[in-house]
Amino acid sequence: MDTYFLPISALQHYAYCPRQFALIHVEQAWEENYFTADGRRLHERVDDGEPEQRKGIRYERSVLLRSEKHLIAGKMDLLEVHLEEPRKYFPVEYKRGKPKIEDWDRIQLCAQALCIEEMQGTTVTEGAIWYWETRQRETVPIDANLRTHTLDIIQTAYKIRQAGHTPPPTENKRRCRACSLKNLCQPDIYRQDRSASYIEELFADEKIA
Ligand code: SF4
Repeated sequence: MDTYFLPISALQHYAYCPRQFALIHVEQAWEENYFTADGRRLHERVDDGEPEQRKGIRYERSVLLRSEKHLIAGKMDLLEVHLEEPRKYFPVEYKRGKPKIEDWDRIQLCAQALCIEEMQGTTVTEGAIWYWETRQRETVPIDANLRTHTLDIIQTAYKIRQAGHTPPPTENKRRCRACSLKNLCQPDIYRQDRSASYIEELFADEKIA
């Protein structure tokens, strides 16, 4: 059987909502909304660029990545290769929105760094996320905390994928508002069903007592 490589983009789905991850990567459901369509257009624009070299830095676009160790694979938007010795590899990811408190985008960047380290036999100490909406570039240290968080997510997401299990909706209802899978997921109906069965179980317990 072929080894399954988890798409790096799936880690962001998992970090946002494990159910969203499972709907896309276990059940193969996908529904595009304004946010996903806009994000796709942005990546197509970034992907168009040819490699170029300026002031000791080579800029490589749409670089394919793979880690045999962590069983992840994907494509990164931009890799800066600083050509002085020792060479420095600096991943850059483009996002349509603005910087976030949560690590969703940083996890994706860290997974890219893990692949580069394995493929190039190097250590990646930092990368950057460029936010289209705010025209801001956030430098991200690839530190021990981010690495641990990213590796935890890789392992848990991989297990869910292997088990074919779809978790319940996130407790954080605000995330559902911008979720491209809201119509397919029907989180409110699922939550109501869960509340109904919970109440039934509660009264069943009282009858027994
Ligand atoms: S609608 Fe909410 S619970 Fe469902 S996948 Fe999206 S974020 Fe998760």
